Amino acid sequence: MNTKIESRFLANYILMFIISTTIAIFAFMLLSFAGDVTSKNLVKNHHTARSLMQDDYRLIDASNVLENGGGVQVINAEYEVVYSAGLNTIAKNRFTTAEFTDFLIKSKSIGIEYSYSIEYNSKEQFWLIVTFPTSIRIDFDVAYNKEYQSVDKQGVVNVIVSVVLFYLILLAISTIIYSKLTSISIINPLKKLYRSAQKLKEGDYTSRVNLNLKNEFGELENIFNEMATQIETEIALKNQSEDNRKKLILDISHDLKNPLASIMGYAEYCHTRPDLPQEEQNKYMEVIYENSVRANKLIVDLFELSKLESSEYKVNKMKVDICEYLRETIGSYLNILDSNGFFYEFNIPEQEIFARIDRGQMDRVFQNLLSNTVKYNPKGTTIRISLSEREEHIEIVLQDDGIGIASEAAEKIFQPFERVDSTRNSQTGGTGLGLAIVDKIIKAHHGSIRLITEENAGCEFIITLPKI
Ligand code: ADP
Repeated sequence: MNTKIESRFLANYILMFIISTTIAIFAFMLLSFAGDVTSKNLVKNHHTARSLMQDDYRLIDASNVLENGGGVQVINAEYEVVYSAGLNTIAKNRFTTAEFTDFLIKSKSIGIEYSYSIEYNSKEQFWLIVTFPTSIRIDFDVAYNKEYQSVDKQGVVNVIVSVVLFYLILLAISTIIYSKLTSISIINPLKKLYRSAQKLKEGDYTSRVNLNLKNEFGELENIFNEMATQIETEIALKNQSEDNRKKLILDISHDLKNPLASIMGYAEYCHTRPDLPQEEQNKYMEVIYENSVRANKLIVDLFELSKLESSEYKVNKMKVDICEYLRETIGSYLNILDSNGFFYEFNIPEQEIFARIDRGQMDRVFQNLLSNTVKYNPKGTTIRISLSEREEHIEIVLQDDGIGIASEAAEKIFQPFERVDSTRNSQTGGTGLGLAIVDKIIKAHHGSIRLITEENAGCEFIITLPKI
């Protein structure tokens, strides 16, 4: 990756270098062409001293020169200014020979602000000077004599070639340095991104990039890091669900093993001992029955849970007055509470509050929660059930003052096979799936359930359901 981008940059800059040099040569040629074109159109070249010259200087027509802001002077053989019209840069009436020679030399220099056209009339012996102010002058000119071989020509050519070569070498070096610098600014962030992507590919999902750039690479960095975070979360979830699956299989086999083993053991015992007294046989049959009920409950609960977890599962919701519904559900449970010596208090509003629920599934929720309270708490426990209408949802609270659950165990209690302790369960015949099923049903209603509890401080289940 490194070499490819670097050589691409170098090739691009060499191309740029060739193009810019060609453009420079072309511009040079264009400029001298432009110089030729403009010089043809300059007023000073239309009104030269030669074109105006007359033997009698009094007949010279200076009108065009004056119209165009110029001036005309005539200097006689004694270097006296005998005629002057318009622009006058001489500013004296008479020259010495040296001064006039000096003026003639200076008039040919390039940098001066006036352009002079000077012509000598040899017949009448006077100089005609036409002066124009310089507009803008650009001079590009290479002059050499084709007809004569100058002794120092080779030397001059060598100097020019060396200067051009030096310029080209300097340009080539700066092209290489510049291409290197630009490619570094691209290659470095790319290298970092590449290394992080490589790590990610190798399974290091904590890999992130830190470029500290505010350009497109910075945006790429953000996207890369977000993508890495997403992959990390999804992999963690996948691993978690894989662990859960393994744990579930382990829990199922563990929970089925005991009842099935005792069913098998007692059935075999009864089968091989047909002479067993009826009383003993009945006792074993009862054990077989209890264990098959337990195994069956586990299978039924598991089936229920996996049905709720399936993506095809849909709750069959209908609009219900939730207060009336709750009164009816609790009403059908009052006998059980009474017969188990439980006290109860209800606080359900008289007015109608509507929610969309699947009655069959919601019955399962309250049946699980109420039967748990009865199953796990001693006689004399008080259960309080209340319903209140909040701004955006309905809140149902089932609270008891029973034995409670240690708060650390409560955090995981809605997961399948989570039980407080197995001895408690073997006595009550719980599968550890009841609250997991409750949680799934409430979530299918777009609600939530949480448990506030402490050991010996009772349990408080708080259910929220969306209002309509
Ligand atoms: P199980 O089928 O074993 O009852 P659940 O998921 O319904 O499974 O309950 C999980 C555990 O939570 C139970 O094993 C029990 O120990 C505890 N539990 C649930 N409700 C109560 C309660 N009201 N009071 C005390 N413990 C409870």
